[in-house]
Amino acid sequence: MTETTMEDVESFRLRARAWLADNMPLLADAAPLTPGEDDDHEWERARELQKLLYDGGFAGICFPREYGGLGLTLAHQKAFTQESLDYEMPLLLNKPTFAICAPTILDAGSEEQKREYIGGAIRGERVICQFLSEPSGGSDLAGLITRADRDGDNWVLNGAKTWSTSAYAADYGLCLARTDWDVPKHKGLTMFLVPTKAPGITMNRVRMVNGSMEFCEEFFDDVVLPASAVVGEVGDGWTVASRQLFHERNAMGGGSPYISGRSISRGMGHISPLEAALATGRMDDPRARELVGRGLAFGRVQQQTAVRVTRAIASGALPPIASSLLRLLHAEYAQTDRDLTLRIAGASAGFGTGAAQGATGRVGVDYLMRQSGSLGGGSTEMARNVISERLLGMPREAALDRDVPFSQVKRGR
Ligand SMILES: Cc1cc2nc3c(=O)[nH]c(=O)nc-3n(C[C@H](O)[C@H](O)[C@H](O)COP(=O)(O)OP(=O)(O)OC[C@H]3O[C@@H](n4cnc5c(N)ncnc54)[C@H](O)[C@@H]3O)c2cc1C
Repeated sequence: MTETTMEDVESFRLRARAWLADNMPLLADAAPLTPGEDDDHEWERARELQKLLYDGGFAGICFPREYGGLGLTLAHQKAFTQESLDYEMPLLLNKPTFAICAPTILDAGSEEQKREYIGGAIRGERVICQFLSEPSGGSDLAGLITRADRDGDNWVLNGAKTWSTSAYAADYGLCLARTDWDVPKHKGLTMFLVPTKAPGITMNRVRMVNGSMEFCEEFFDDVVLPASAVVGEVGDGWTVASRQLFHERNAMGGGSPYISGRSISRGMGHISPLEAALATGRMDDPRARELVGRGLAFGRVQQQTAVRVTRAIASGALPPIASSLLRLLHAEYAQTDRDLTLRIAGASAGFGTGAAQGATGRVGVDYLMRQSGSLGGGSTEMARNVISERLLGMPREAALDRDVPFSQVKRGR
């Protein structure tokens, strides 16, 4: 096929169906996924599966060809996802590597970075995480205090990051740091690609309330980075971070064109209200039926809104910042869904953390995690602020640090 002719979606779907049947392992034969302290094999498996997709010509469907992708459309990606549902897929690599970090590098990276990191991710050789939030707070991202100082041609990084999803399994992190303290907070930032195993980095894993160890915290002590680690321009890190946040909100809201496969990993999925009603024999109970119906209706509205807003952003009818609508609705839906499941499961809701707990055995522990949907990818309060100020044009929140050199902004110790 030439560069100018694009394969039609149905032909791509049929080719994918045949290839998947011949090459990808069936999901039914796979062991349940159990991320924990010793889940290195899960990550090795994800990289292997990604390589398999790459060798078969089905990796990076929406990434440009020059960086190792297929240069196809969202419709091709959706067709591939539909065909792949019965197969084991490298879902661990979806977020943040493919949905957030690789598209950010595509938007803001140098040619060399695009070839190295996007191509590497598509081949299963590069896993990238996000070093954004800091112990002093994540909502005011532009107020971060991790610093990078010039030393000849190099940069020296000092500070701390936290809540970095899957950083322990990543090769690089997209790290936003302050490089100029004498300009207002948004103007003194630079984005870096930091090797996670570089000398001077101490990384700890953090246990979450559901037992998962996917979060990490990192401490940077005189980590030396070459000039080529800068993504975008020095001092223009906020532009890069804005693209990163756009892709993150899109991914959270189900609008990312860069990921394939089911949205949830095997054995780790949330039990839906319908599954809870089936598992507890409450399908004839009118109250349970009403709750199931409410969840299904909300789910349909969420999916359709994601499609509508994604199309509107792509056509220019809505600005990219409208991805906050997706991010907000996703959190509302995820929380409602968990609440409904818990109400239907009732006393059978268990607090197991493994996959072998029975259908409703994880519902209790899953409920404890309901709040994460309104924090990950930026909090829902911040999404509401963005929607009101930047989409609806309402007055901006008062800020004492706007237009003030960051070195003069009052901060706690
Ligand atoms: C599942 C998950 C995955 C994550 N993955 C990553 C990751 O990979 N990398 C990374 O860097 N971070 C990650 N995070 C961190 C996430 O980005 C932060 O939790 C988030 O930005 C909020 O920051 P914070 O937790 O420091 O809360 P804070 O900023 O301290 O805020 C605390 C509370 O105050 C509210 N608040 C703060 N400012 C305002 C305001 N101006 N108006 C109204 N309300 C306000 C917030 O909404 C929140 O409820 C992840 C978080 C979760 C839950």
